[in-house]
Amino acid sequence: MSRANSFSRRGLLRRIALGLLLAPLAARSVRRARAAAPLLSPQAPEAKAVQYTEDARTAKGAQPGSNCASCALYQGSYGSSQGGCQVFPGKEVKAAGWCSSWAPQM
Ligand code: SF4
Repeated sequence: MSRANSFSRRGLLRRIALGLLLAPLAARSVRRARAAAPLLSPQAPEAKAVQYTEDARTAKGAQPGSNCASCALYQGSYGSSQGGCQVFPGKEVKAAGWCSSWAPQM
């Protein structure tokens, strides 16, 4: 093995180690950016327009078992208490919530 190959391999290993060290920090930054989205208020005009409620059990039109967590438009991760919704960009909705735009997952 030549000396030049040894240096380049050492440099590559350093970059890999640095990447492994920084990956959790980058992931944390992404999570914080996602968590920064404000929660949709049921009193907001856009929420009222689709009868959004934070508790599907109180919604008149909700079928049993239908809530944001079971909606095809929900963007929160599995088991999350709240997450994004395609109907309300830039806002988060409660997983236990519901609105008249609810769509079944395929
Ligand atoms: Fe919840 Fe689905 Fe309505 Fe969005 S579209 S608020 S996820 S029920």
